Formats: sequence, C-alpha cells, structure tokens
Amino acid sequence: MAESNVESVNYRDLLNKAILQSDIVKIFDYLLTIWVEEGASDIHIEPFENYCRIRIRIDWVLEELVQYPKSFHDSIISKFKIESGQMRPDEKRLPQDARVSAVTQTNKEIDLRANTLPTVWWEKLVMRIVDKSKEIPPLSSLWLEWSNGRIMQKNLAYPNWIILNTWPTGSWKTTTLYSALSDINKVEVNITTFEDPVENKMLWLNQAQVRSDIGFTFLSWLRSALRQDPDIIMVWEIRDRETLEMAMESSMTWHLVFSTVHTNSAVETITRVSKMGAEPYMIAGTFNLVIAQRLWRKVCTNCGQKVKIRPEDEVKFRNAKNSFRVFDKDLLKKELQLRNISQEEWNDFFVNWYVMEWSWKDPKTWEVCPVCKWTWYKWRLWIYEMMDYTDDIKWMLIDGKSAFEVGKFALSRWMIDLERDGIFKAMKWEFDLHEVYRFVKLQDL
Ligand SMILES: [Zn+2]
Repeated sequence: MAESNVESVNYRDLLNKAILQSDIVKIFDYLLTIWVEEGASDIHIEPFENYCRIRIRIDWVLEELVQYPKSFHDSIISKFKIESGQMRPDEKRLPQDARVSAVTQTNKEIDLRANTLPTVWWEKLVMRIVDKSKEIPPLSSLWLEWSNGRIMQKNLAYPNWIILNTWPTGSWKTTTLYSALSDINKVEVNITTFEDPVENKMLWLNQAQVRSDIGFTFLSWLRSALRQDPDIIMVWEIRDRETLEMAMESSMTWHLVFSTVHTNSAVETITRVSKMGAEPYMIAGTFNLVIAQRLWRKVCTNCGQKVKIRPEDEVKFRNAKNSFRVFDKDLLKKELQLRNISQEEWNDFFVNWYVMEWSWKDPKTWEVCPVCKWTWYKWRLWIYEMMDYTDDIKWMLIDGKSAFEVGKFALSRWMIDLERDGIFKAMKWEFDLHEVYRFVKLQDL
C-alpha cells in the first residue's frame, strides 16, 4: 500500500546535484517528488548559523535530506514566496501562510500548505503536502481482514453512525474514511461530505470544502446537508457541542454519520464526547463503532533475522504477554487461526522470546541491504483498534459506567486494541516490539 514503485533514490541524487548547481526551481521540483514518492508528510527548510538543511518527515521521524550553505537560504525562501503568490518576499519578520498546487516530476498533482516562521537566524519554511493523486485503496486491503475487519463490515451495514477517531496527521485516517465511503458508494444512496481539506475528489460523492473565513462551518453545512436528502453524511471533524448534537440527531433519524474526533484511543472517545455534552444514553443510542488508527513502521523482511531478545527488552515481552491475560480464550484461539499464526510462531514469540532484528546486510550478498538501505524500517502498516458498541457496552453506558470500566470490559471480551493488533502483527514478523512500545505505554512488569 504505502509502497512506491518509483525508485526514489534517483531523486535524492538529483536534489543533491540541483543544490550544487544552485538551481532553485529544480530543488523544489525534486523535493516535492521525493515527498510524494516516499510518502512523507512534511518538508522542513531550516536555517542555522553556518549551514542550513532540508529535512523530510517520513513515518513521524525526521530525516536529513541535504545541507547547504547559508548564503543560499534567502534565495530559496524568496523564490518559494514569489512562486506561491501569497507571501510577501520583503516581509521577513512575521510568519506567513500559503496554499499552493504543484505537479511533481512523476506527474502527480499535489496541494501544499506552507508556513514561514522567523527564527534567530533566518526564516524557516515548513511545507505540509496533501497528495491529491493518492489512490483510494479498497477496504479489503487495509489490514482489516481479521476480527476488526468483520466488525467494520458489520457496522457499515447499519444506518447509524460511526466515529473514526484518530491521532496525528499522517496516520492516514482519511484513507480509511475514503475506503469505507467508496465501499458503500452505491447509486441507491446519497453521500454528502464536508471536508477540510478535500483530499480526494471522488466520483458520485457530494463533497464540500470547509470555508470558516466566510462562515461556511461544520454546523452551517450540517444544517443544510440535512435538507439535501442525505443517507450518509461525513463531517470531517467534531469540535464543538452543537456539531456533536446535530450529528447525533442525524444519526437518530436514520443517517449513517462518519466523523472524527481527536482522542488517543477508541475508549477515550467516550470521555471526550461526554465532556462535549453528550449524555450517556445518547452515546448508547447513536454510536456503533469507534476506530482508532495508527500507521506504524514495518520492518524490512529482506535483512531482518530472528534473534533472541536482549535482556533489557524483556519487559516488552512481559507486557505483550500480559496484554492477552484477560482476553477471551476461545476468541484468542479463533483470532490466531484467522491471522494464520501457528503454534510455532506463538512459541517463538512468547516462549523463546525471539524478535526480528535488523542486520542491514543483504543475506545473499552481504552488502548493504538494497531494500531498506540501512533504514531497517521499510514501509508502513496500519494498526487498528475497534470499539464495537455492542448491547453490553450500550447498557454499561446507560448504567453510568465510566469509560475506563467500559474499556476494561471490552478488552476482557473481544476488543483488539492497538497493542494487541501490533503484537499479532509482530508475531508474523511484520513489526518489532520496539515499534509497538514506541506508541503503547509500557507497564512495569
Ligand atoms: Zn533491509
């Protein structure tokens, strides 16, 4: 999915050449191309006392692309400001924003959001890019094929509402949303969406763009959208009580509502929407599914090798094992079967404590691994957590149970949270445990 067919290393070489030749137009061309082809989220162009550098954020980690002499920095920033047509080149003391479109060397149309910020040296430019040409993967390809995928399919069939809850930008929450929408995008239903920004223009969807500057906000859109005979509504984000209430009412009147809220886990969403003013009976009456999603770094299977874990990392294995302690035994068995995890793989993991470790050498040639080129983490993999609002959960909410109790109950039964999903995938050697516990809090066991 996140894999790219284009060999990106060429563009990195070309970028270096363009820097040496001080060819600013080409620098931007190659930068944008590298961004799209390598699936990065941001580009940082930053000045320091003697040298400046360009870094790129891939999978939440910044990586240096190139350094260049400070004498060159001002021309790079000025050029960008002029090209954007929305920034004043002579204003260097105040931050500025711009939004521009561009085409990469690989002929992909992209949208950029850029911001300059004065530092003690010069201005720093950060660009966040929205890739308009990103293809929408079918739902079946999103690593949702196990129990979590079944929960998703089941809930998409109900005319009630789903919240897709996520965390940072770059976890591609929109990909899952768009995939789900395209899955149910049929001639019989009217789908209307309100987005900020519209990342993908999809056929047969009535998509609109948020324009807060002229008062076209979530709430005003929702009011009008409900007069447009909708079946399915997607409100990009729920930030306030009014929007939440209206979304809940729409759900009560048999609309399937998709949306996102900012929380860290699927369970925490209960607390978040309660704080926004939702009564427990309303949550029970309208929620069907809450999803949390992350994009974690997958290990390189070409140069990875199974090794015994180091003593200092044993705590991660103890945590991993502990996370299944309260899981329903029959369900665990079924899930292992569904995910094709053999007894041997289970034992290698939980009994022998083997992990995939980076060797960075190609096993055949003993040269630098040609797949990951020393980076070890190659490509990314989605991790999902699904909170299915079953009748049990709904009754607990009506009974006034806390989000904590509800979460604990779900985990003791059927819920596969981020930690469990990550561990299952680590048992198939797709992850290492370091990546899982980079995001999941370790308990002191
Ligand atoms: Zn490798």
